[in-house]
Amino acid sequence: MSRVVPPDADGVRRAVEILRADSVVAFPTETVYGLGANAFSRQAISEVYRLKNRPSWNPLIVHVASVEAARELTAEWPAVADKLAARFWPGPLTLVLRRAAHLAGVGADNDTIAVRIPAHEVALRLLEASGLPLAAPSANRSESISPTTAGHVVRSLPDVPLVLDGGPCSWGIESTVLDLTTEVPTLLRPGALSLRALRDVTGAIALRDAETADGAARPSPGMSRRHYAPRAKVILTPDVREADRSRLAAPAAILTYEGSALPSYRQPTEPGTGTAVITSGQPEVVEVLSADPAEYAADLYAALHRLDDAGVATILVQEPPRTEDWLAVRDRLTRAAA
Ligand code: AMP
Ligand code: MG
Repeated sequence: MSRVVPPDADGVRRAVEILRADSVVAFPTETVYGLGANAFSRQAISEVYRLKNRPSWNPLIVHVASVEAARELTAEWPAVADKLAARFWPGPLTLVLRRAAHLAGVGADNDTIAVRIPAHEVALRLLEASGLPLAAPSANRSESISPTTAGHVVRSLPDVPLVLDGGPCSWGIESTVLDLTTEVPTLLRPGALSLRALRDVTGAIALRDAETADGAARPSPGMSRRHYAPRAKVILTPDVREADRSRLAAPAAILTYEGSALPSYRQPTEPGTGTAVITSGQPEVVEVLSADPAEYAADLYAALHRLDDAGVATILVQEPPRTEDWLAVRDRLTRAAA
């Protein structure tokens, strides 16, 4: 039997069986593919950590089908959580709240829990059919690129018991993580949902990551510095035209976006069409993504997967603008380059 199955009634039934037997299942969400486990099962949770080779200090996000189910996992549910849930759930926003006393660790030794309702029809059907909260990090080996297709999942996790194939993820970048246990809500991870949209509801948001203030690369506490990384070495550069290529491992590739300049002897490809090998001048692979940060984000991991598949040794990345709209993309690129 194939491990990658369509998310029809039979596929979901098989997935539920596996989840109820304390094993794990990969499923699509609107952000990236998740590796789901019954959040109440220590055995299933440890299987997630083992398959991903995820460090035990990195906690998991729990996915639920309703606000009621989210509240049951928490000890405190502030008014702002209600407002955020009403506006953005289902959607790519994860809230960190005080954890309910009856919930023993979903992987971390703290007293908080991260929850969200995913906006993906397959994920919601799986949550409803299983009746379980599902702890689900991205379905890839720790530190590597997150999967945005079922194919990415099996390549990164060949031992995964089952993958529900829901096609490519629409957002293609992880959820925004907002901590509501601090006096002022604190951004723990920039993501698919913009800060501007959040501030509309919460007012001021504290930023934990200095990279957000001045663009300088800094590790953000509680999150690993190196993450989202392809096999190739990633080098962020303010101008790909000026980068000194003589000391870069070959073959090198360029990852840039529409409207930003390319070295003159290179022709850009159509955005989102994949990889082009330019043979005039130095052979080089070029990926041109959208100049719109959300569209760029949606294609980023797929582009990094394509470049890895093309066997490039170095990826020269044109730094995106240092504006708030590019926060999540800059965060992922900085970690990929760490
Ligand atoms: P991933 O599931 O790999 O997309 O990553 C989950 C993210 O959520 C990580 O950055 C975690 O550090 C963060 N996270 C999950 N649970 C918590 C929590 N209880 N407190 C703070 N951050 C959390
Ligand atoms: Mg991940």
